[in-house]
Amino acid sequence: MVFEPGGRQHVARELERLGHTRAMVLSTPRQHAQATELADSLGKLAVGVFPDARMHTPVEVTERAVVMARDLSADCVIAIGGGSTTGLGKAIALRTDLDQIVLPTTYAGSEVTPILGETVDATKTTLRSLKVVPETVIYDIDLTLSLPTAVTVNSALNSLAHAVEALWAQDPDPVTLLMAREAITTFVACLPRIVTDPGDRDARAAALYGAWLAGTCLATVGMALHHKLCHVLGGTFDLPHAETHAVVLPYVVAYNAPAALEAATVVERVLGAPGATALRTFVDHLGAPTSLRELGMPESGITEAADRCLAAPYYNPRPVEREPLRDLIRDAWAGNPPRADGYGTAAASNTTS
Ligand code: NAD
Repeated sequence: MVFEPGGRQHVARELERLGHTRAMVLSTPRQHAQATELADSLGKLAVGVFPDARMHTPVEVTERAVVMARDLSADCVIAIGGGSTTGLGKAIALRTDLDQIVLPTTYAGSEVTPILGETVDATKTTLRSLKVVPETVIYDIDLTLSLPTAVTVNSALNSLAHAVEALWAQDPDPVTLLMAREAITTFVACLPRIVTDPGDRDARAAALYGAWLAGTCLATVGMALHHKLCHVLGGTFDLPHAETHAVVLPYVVAYNAPAALEAATVVERVLGAPGATALRTFVDHLGAPTSLRELGMPESGITEAADRCLAAPYYNPRPVEREPLRDLIRDAWAGNPPRADGYGTAAASNTTS
């Protein structure tokens, strides 16, 4: 892990340390210029640029990238970008064992997790494997200054959700709890500053720190209802990943608060008011989306989403019941304030009912 403004200058040193001389640089089409600039700065150490990373890591794209890596005899991949580009690097590493250097330019946090989500024929599956963990991560705030405010906010709220769910994880550990609390405090302090001044370097540095913390929480403990619901909503209605997290989190905090006092207390302490409502106000003030309707989910999908969520049992600090879950999704769809009553009664339990 390298945290340093201008840290991209250390890519050549990292390649040398890892023993590589033929790197292939990865980006999305939007960051092609940034990737080319990085490749140019590496001279002969970079043998090509693959600028076609896509959201949700389609396997068809990965296969093209693997062919290109083989044709170039690449011995390493360098991902410069957000979770989509990091995902492509991980997917290549899974198939080829090539080492990865990642320069994150959003706050998604994927660069520190052993998790890879891939899409085949519009179906996304997620796996955990140490093979996909990047060898080097270089956090360089200079690369984040061009990040549009909407991607800034949404990718950071996605990360915030990792930290909040870590507070009510089934397999908690004290260090992860510390990191989760620190991540929440950090994001709540720095995000309003970035929205006001996207060039605020101290706030940008803090957000990268928050991304690292929250990503490490995601890597370490299991997630619960929030991630399950976002996964279902994203997969079923093709909703954008980070925006869906931004909308849903306050509602799941409301739902779980009666059974997850630690999380409710932390969120309330950081935001200065009762968790779910304060979180929703925070999301609103940042200009993030606040309803699933505006993300394109049809109202007719509310019951289907609830049923899909209930189809396979998974851990949640509060039992996931059909009617309260449907009420939660309906409120999130309409953008209503999260309910102060926590969507009905709570009985402590560890699985869906
Ligand atoms: P993203 O990577 O899709 O980026 C969104 C857009 O912003 C892209 O067009 C990108 O090129 C552009 N962009 C990124 N950085 C920029 C910059 N500095 N300047 C200008 N444009 C920039 O978005 P994301 O939210 O970072 O990642 C979302 C993806 O990451 C999802 O597929 C999600 O599933 C995945 N993810 C995975 C994990 C994991 O642990 N596996 C964790 C979090 C997210």
